[in-house]
Amino acid sequence: MAVPFEMSHLLRSIREPLVCAKCADEVASGAAGAVSMRDYGQLEAGFTDRGLQVWCLRHDLNVVHVDFAGERPQADFRCLERRPN
Ligand SMILES: [Zn+2]
Repeated sequence: MAVPFEMSHLLRSIREPLVCAKCADEVASGAAGAVSMRDYGQLEAGFTDRGLQVWCLRHDLNVVHVDFAGERPQADFRCLERRPN
């Protein structure tokens, strides 16, 4: 699928996935069973008064809370979907 350059940021470009430290420990130690971190993680993300927070639903813990420092960074909520052939 050819995507115009100006929309290429809408494709998956994650280089370092966010993970819960406790989930990562459980996957690494084998305590979670034979699962990948991607399958084991149960993250929720959302905007807060401070910025954007990622929350582990499995452990009910903060993963990261990004402080926008009162700014409103650009965000693109458009999505690209593949057309059926
Ligand atoms: Zn967790």
